[in-house]
Amino acid sequence: MPEIIRTTCPYCGVGCGVIAARLDQSAPWTVKGDPEHPANYGKLCVKGSALAETLDLDGRLLHPLISGNRASWDEALDLVAETFSTAVREHGPDSVAFYVSGQLLTEDYYAANKLMKGFIGSGNIDTNSRLCMSSTVAGHVRAFGSDTVPGCYEDLDLADLVVLVGSNAAWCHPVAFQRTLAAKARRPEMRIVVVDPRRTATAECADLHLAIRPGSDAILFNGLLAHLKGEETQLDVGVPLDQIVQFFSWFADTEKTVTVWSQGINQSSSGTDKVDAIINCHLQTGRIGRPGMGPFSLTGQPNAMGGREVGGLANMLAAHMGFDEASIDRVGRFWNATQMAGKPGLKAVDMFKAVAEGKIKALWIMCTNPAVSMPEADLVKSAIAACPFVVISECEANTDTARLAHVKLPALTWGEKDGTVTNSERRISRQRPFLPAPGEAKGDWWIITQVARRMGFGPAFAWNGPGEIFDEFCRLTAFENASTRDLDLSGLVGADYAAIEPIQWPVRAPGQGTARLFADGRFYHADGKARMLDITPRPPARAADLAFPLILNTGRMRDQWHTMTRTGRAARLAAHAPEPVLLVHPKDALRFRLSDGGLARVSGNRTSVVLRVALDPGQRIGEVFAPIHWNDQTASSAVIGSLIDAATDPHSGQPELKQAPVLVEPL
Ligand code: SF4
Repeated sequence: MPEIIRTTCPYCGVGCGVIAARLDQSAPWTVKGDPEHPANYGKLCVKGSALAETLDLDGRLLHPLISGNRASWDEALDLVAETFSTAVREHGPDSVAFYVSGQLLTEDYYAANKLMKGFIGSGNIDTNSRLCMSSTVAGHVRAFGSDTVPGCYEDLDLADLVVLVGSNAAWCHPVAFQRTLAAKARRPEMRIVVVDPRRTATAECADLHLAIRPGSDAILFNGLLAHLKGEETQLDVGVPLDQIVQFFSWFADTEKTVTVWSQGINQSSSGTDKVDAIINCHLQTGRIGRPGMGPFSLTGQPNAMGGREVGGLANMLAAHMGFDEASIDRVGRFWNATQMAGKPGLKAVDMFKAVAEGKIKALWIMCTNPAVSMPEADLVKSAIAACPFVVISECEANTDTARLAHVKLPALTWGEKDGTVTNSERRISRQRPFLPAPGEAKGDWWIITQVARRMGFGPAFAWNGPGEIFDEFCRLTAFENASTRDLDLSGLVGADYAAIEPIQWPVRAPGQGTARLFADGRFYHADGKARMLDITPRPPARAADLAFPLILNTGRMRDQWHTMTRTGRAARLAAHAPEPVLLVHPKDALRFRLSDGGLARVSGNRTSVVLRVALDPGQRIGEVFAPIHWNDQTASSAVIGSLIDAATDPHSGQPELKQAPVLVEPL
């Protein structure tokens, strides 16, 4: 009998629908795009297309381990619960922490957040989404009074001008970008502007590429705002004036304009200001929440949005509620919480600093690899190694982080997991299992629930499956004053979980999603108005100097994902970039005696990595680029995060992962 399962891609925030199918039980699984999913209408990028090649069990964590020795689930869970309880009893709730992931499903995230913020009594749960889009969250909240993406992917079809800022969407959000190109092919008069220091694959497709000086985005959009107001403006962003004039004139004259941004904006020590500098231009022109127009953040991870919905960020409660007194009380009553967190917890960078300082006695890392992905990754790795008790729940046995853990709990992964995710356009989709659980692996929600029960919180964690968790989350969004919040899932309360179709929140009535918000001019600040922020542009935290004369820009490759634990399994994905390469402008290569194809040592403050050099005239002079994926467990080792300082945005806590001064020397 043929089997067909509709699920969702586990990689980027486009959130493409995927159909996994096989002819019979002896046939291999295949994947293709789901033609009915509104995020992709049947399209997949090369990463999504190769998913069926990533299903083997090599390197999987299949059994609980304590200190490297196989243990039963009961032994491992008892030890985790007992150690966390002891730390809380002896050192207080803030002596423990969870570091979670935009790869978790919403139900996993909800369970972890409820345990930490409602029962352990600390805000110390933060997520790798802090590294990804937390500046957008802070920017949205300042401008709109809520963390709301106003528009949807259909706006890319309808826009007459698409401005991509700090986004190599051609590689990082390929299906959304192809959709934009398809719209331009249908309507050649549509224009694409790319604002990016590098001439990326995205910039190659643009009508206009503004290769601005890194970090000068807020200057550019402040200048645009002044132009839109008819004021005089002078700005220096490192590109010829005629290009600026062209961009300003296109923006001013094009009603249907969408401005898309991604990590080039967010991963900055002034990311929140940059987000609001962009939003200001849309508020000034009233181009928001209407078809074909609006500010649009593309999220990096498959469930970064779901995580922020259920309170995965240390400074948020669940259901988009903050740490104000009324929200703490409301969530606490809904949960029957035994000990509600009364204040925000530690954000990612501060959390690992607290680990290094010995303030965190027990740390649980779920579904992420901070020993590679954090800034100052070398220090983070040392901090984790020195922490008295580290638990990981993971599908991989040997990540750089997993190797440091005292207790390893085997978790299900894509194809095995059951739950929901939310993509960049607020669309909730189901991720459905089609593979059996391997070994003794379990869903993250189950693992968290079991620990919570052993810590004495059983009645609040009595769920029998992810569907019950999702329903509880929906009921929380609808609990008291739902109309004052953007995230209202009343219409999904009691829904048939197995059959939920992709739908955009808010869902205030069954089957009625919401494509766009704010077209009526009403926002979520108490007075119903939006805020235009007065932005004073700030340069990056550190500039190049004599010791570190080049600026390192970091980012993703087209065919790899995060630390390559899944994409690294597909041989054809490695063909695009078999090893990490440092892109260098030919003039910088001459200046620093680097040769095309030769090796170079790239040094930051504390550590260095060795990379092969590739000459690229698409780099700005004085700037080099390196990809983030490779690590100590891949064939070529290059932990780029160890070269990056942990400078953070003061509003969002997001680190400046896009930028670091480095020294590059030939080997
Ligand atoms: Fe997956 Fe993103 Fe590619 Fe879609 S665009 S198939 S979600 S990686």
